[in-house]
Amino acid sequence: MPAAQADADPATTPASGAMRALTKHHAGEGLKFHTDKAIPEPGPTEVRIKVQKVGICGTDRHIWEWDDWAAGRIPVGIVTGHEFVGVVDKIGSAVTSTEPGRRVSAEGHITAGLDFNSRTGNAHIARDTQILGVDRDGIFADYVVVPEANVWPVHKEIADKHAAIFDPLGNAVHTVMEAGVSGKSVLISGVGIIGLMAVTVAKAAGAGRIFCTDINPPRLKLAKKLGATEAFNVAEHKSWIDEVRKATRGEGVDVLCEMSGAPAAMDQGFRALRNGGRAALLGLPAKEFAFDFNQHIIFKGCTVLGINGRRMWDTWYQMEELLLSRRLELDDIITHEFPIEQFEKAFDTMRSGDGIKVLMNL
Ligand code: ZN
Repeated sequence: MPAAQADADPATTPASGAMRALTKHHAGEGLKFHTDKAIPEPGPTEVRIKVQKVGICGTDRHIWEWDDWAAGRIPVGIVTGHEFVGVVDKIGSAVTSTEPGRRVSAEGHITAGLDFNSRTGNAHIARDTQILGVDRDGIFADYVVVPEANVWPVHKEIADKHAAIFDPLGNAVHTVMEAGVSGKSVLISGVGIIGLMAVTVAKAAGAGRIFCTDINPPRLKLAKKLGATEAFNVAEHKSWIDEVRKATRGEGVDVLCEMSGAPAAMDQGFRALRNGGRAALLGLPAKEFAFDFNQHIIFKGCTVLGINGRRMWDTWYQMEELLLSRRLELDDIITHEFPIEQFEKAFDTMRSGDGIKVLMNL
């Protein structure tokens, strides 16, 4: 049954066999709320999940705003969204690892599992990857169908609001773990949603001092609360790189986690990295830009890692352990929750910067 209630508003209540969904209905700004989307049927190796709580991602914002990336990638008509928790509703005839009633999330990167990288432990960079809510119907809907192989059982001690954001938290955990922060000085450049998560993850993972940069004062303040040693507003604090160097024996930080994708932040982040340091890059620059490879990478002898998605399933087990250890502080990052009918308010709250992580409930 869809989430219909006896006293429900007909404008927001689906008929039997239909569901609520937010789709990218046209090649332009916004999303459209439907109550008449057909409930998908799982194939033999698929699982249908009743979605309960979802997160709004930066990717969803690009899709909402219909920027060049979205226009070039998103098929008009799809259900959007990829961060969620729900309950298994129906399983295909060949599914053996889960059953109706189980609380689950899912890895949103779907691959056939047969290409070189999938077969060698690197499915997160498989060439045939399809992303939920980007390349195929996502989770801003009452129901979603995913392959059994993508289903992640949620531990009973993990709260719904945390399980709903495994996807972005996984980006933060993947970045921090690949960078290797234990006992190291770390610079996290950009404390948006995932950058803030990276602060608490780095602290939980035993980082030494954590330096953060951004231009958003409330987020810098929150970064400090989450464990940053210093949080620099680079718009005002022009000599921050010198200060970081001074604080790190004149060398610079051991590790850079680049979460912003801003060309200036990338340039400065590498300036603040010590020779022989390690840089993990998650933030996506909006377009190509000039970058000093000689000074920042080659002469510096540093290691640069591109970070895409979450390792399947290393990152998921790491997230579960970190959450069960209760060393992650996520509750200040999750600032708002709205019913999905108020999706416009939810997106406004996220886009205006008033909210950090904004969730919607189905
Ligand atoms: Zn996301």
